[in-house]
Order: sequence, then structure tokens, then C-alpha cells
Amino acid sequence: MNPAPSINGARLLADIHALATITEPDTPGWTRRFPSGAYRQGRAWLREQFEAEGLGITLDAAGNLFGRRDGKSARAPIVIGSHTDTVMGAGRFDGMLGVLGALEVARTLREAGLSLRHPLMIADYLSEEATDYAIACMGSMILATGDFRSEWLDRTVGGVSLRQAIGDMGGAPEHMAGPLLRPGAFAASLELHIEQGPVMEARGARLAAVTGIVGIHRAIFELHGKSNHAGATPMSLRQDAVAALGPVITAIESIARDAAGNGHGAVGTIGKIDVAPNQGNVIANKVIIYPELRSLDMAELDRMWEAFMTAANKACAQRGVTLQVHNHTRLSSVVPPGWLHELVWQVCSELDQNAIRTPSGAGHDTNYLSLIAPSAMIFVPSIGGRSHAPEEITNDSDLVRGVQALANCVVALDTTLT
Ligand SMILES: [Zn+2]
Repeated sequence: MNPAPSINGARLLADIHALATITEPDTPGWTRRFPSGAYRQGRAWLREQFEAEGLGITLDAAGNLFGRRDGKSARAPIVIGSHTDTVMGAGRFDGMLGVLGALEVARTLREAGLSLRHPLMIADYLSEEATDYAIACMGSMILATGDFRSEWLDRTVGGVSLRQAIGDMGGAPEHMAGPLLRPGAFAASLELHIEQGPVMEARGARLAAVTGIVGIHRAIFELHGKSNHAGATPMSLRQDAVAALGPVITAIESIARDAAGNGHGAVGTIGKIDVAPNQGNVIANKVIIYPELRSLDMAELDRMWEAFMTAANKACAQRGVTLQVHNHTRLSSVVPPGWLHELVWQVCSELDQNAIRTPSGAGHDTNYLSLIAPSAMIFVPSIGGRSHAPEEITNDSDLVRGVQALANCVVALDTTLT
């Protein structure tokens, strides 16, 4: 496969450093949350870089920022990008690598005098991280779906409505009814991202071709028992909601552990438990838990959820506890087309003999891009698997190698796509 010209690693690292210095005051780590002043400043800085590179700049109604490099013909563009917003107390690479790496690809192509057949779009999707407005991947969702509801614009955080927040970012809330783009608007989409988990490090991989983004079953469980005196109530006469919780927790763990060996990234978690009345000498009458199961293989995931429901119902029934299930959602996994995954795999394995194929356990803008374009992701390792924390770090050499892989994929895609 014809590789792209070599990217300028020092310039890439300087860009990552420059964007990282734009951070919300008095916050830990590197923080640029939607719709903070720091996020806007970071965007303004990015826009200057796009202008300096001679990219054609557009900002769509949802506030997604694009820089366009023309191709030799009027084909649909190849889009490469990610996001520049962060969580509170973030690191410097989640999202930023994908955007600044994409910019570096455009520069490298220009310096090498290489024109592609396809236009190339560098994307910074708006507000990928969920904020207090409780919407994740907002920009890419509006770009690719009609899921955004206009009543969400009235949600207010800190006195600022979502309508105003999107307007402040340069979007046009009144023209935001999605999808803004239809299938075919992009010839293909690529997102380079840090892994945010420990798998690559454990396997000694510098690059990974992402096999897909896992699907999720999640719900809210209410276990209703009966409060009573912890001393005066015999064991045979209890309806103890906390006692029923025990087998439910071990069930989700063992179901996910059993499935994990199948290689589809199966995991199961109960990350939050609310107990009432939460008193040391009172049998609990109510437990609320937030279980979730994830896997790339939806058939496997559905089986896991069914087994978990069976175990939970049994544990409750044995103790006279009633189980109510609320807000059950089933999010489908996202899998790249086979030809595109193989293209990414070939590029990764040429640059790294220890490259692996691995699923993404986290959601990304690619979840939505995949609805309108053939879409794939490339991962570089996160040291210690740390992310969404100031300790998030990736070796400089891995950042550079990841962007080279992105460049090589773009060049390969340009010749592969019709
Ligand atoms: Zn991200």
C-alpha cells in the first residue's frame, strides 16, 4: 500500500501543547467544557490554524467546525476529525489528537504537493463529551440524525440555555433540525483517538484497528423490600432488598466474565447503588442500581442481558423482593464495513508489527458518523489505560505514529474509493 509522506511530528506535538494551554481557570488538568470561554478560545485558535493552512472554513448550524481542502474533482469529501471539548479535569489528548492529527495530515499533503482525488474535510465536532445539558456527541448527533429534540434547547445550566450556548459557539439553533447531512455526503470518515483503556499497553501494541464500538444494554433497577427492625425480624420473615442485591451483583460480573473470552469486548458494571433508608440497624426497603452490559456482538449482548434479567428476577423472588425495571435502553454496536476495517488494519500492521484489532468500549463521534458514511477508527495506546483525568498520557512517538497511520489511511482511501 502506498504510504503518505511523513508527517511533521514536532509540529504536531507543538500543536497539542498549544491547544492544551487554553484551559478553564481554576480547574484541574486541562479543561475546555462546552460552552465555556476556554472551549470558544480553543476553537478560535483552531480556526486560525485552519486559515493559516488555507482550508475553507465552515461552521454548520449545530456548531461543528470544518476545514476543507479541495480535491482534484467534485467527489464527496473524506472527513477526518474528532472533538476539542473535554470533561472537567481532563487530559490533553482525548479528542484533540484526532482533530490536530487531521490538521497535520492536511499540512503534510500540501507540503508534499500531493492533491487527492477527494476533497478532505478536517472536523471538530461540537460537544462530544456529555455536559450538564446531558447530551453526548451533540454535534455529530445533529449532523447525522433527527434524534435531537427542540425542547432540549430550553434546558438551562448556570443560567445559560442550551439555545444560547449553541448560539455562543457560532451555531444556529433555529436551523438545527437534523440530520444536517444525508448518507453519501461524505465518502468516508476516519477518527484517530486514544484508546482510553489498558488493552493495547497490555498487548504491546502501538496501533490498533478498531473493530467497532460496543453496543450497550442499560436500565435502572428498583428492588422493593420491606423495612423492619434488624434485630427483631427473623431471617425467614424478611424482604431484604440489599440481600437480594448480592446475587444480582455477582451475576452481572460472572455473566460478563464468561462472555469476555469471546473477544467482543464484553463488560458488565453496576457503578451506582442507592439504598433506602440506608440505616445500620434497619432492613433496607429499597435499592436502586444502574446496571449496564456492553459487547460488540449484539446477539451475545442480548443473551447476556437476558441471563442477567433471569438472575435478578430469581434473586428477588427468593427473598420476597419486587423488581421494577425502568428506562431500559439498547444501543446498537457500530461496526465498520469490512473493506474499510481491512484497509485500516493493513496500514496499522505496516507501521506496527504488534498492531492489534480491538473494540472500543467507549462511545465516540464515529457512532453517529457511521450512520451517514463508511466509518472507522484508529487507536493509539493510553499509558496505564488512564483517560478523562489529568493523568491521561500517550507517548509522543505513539501520537506521531497514530497520525502517520491516519495520513496513510487517507491516501489509501483516496485511491480505493471510487
Ligand atoms: Zn473523545
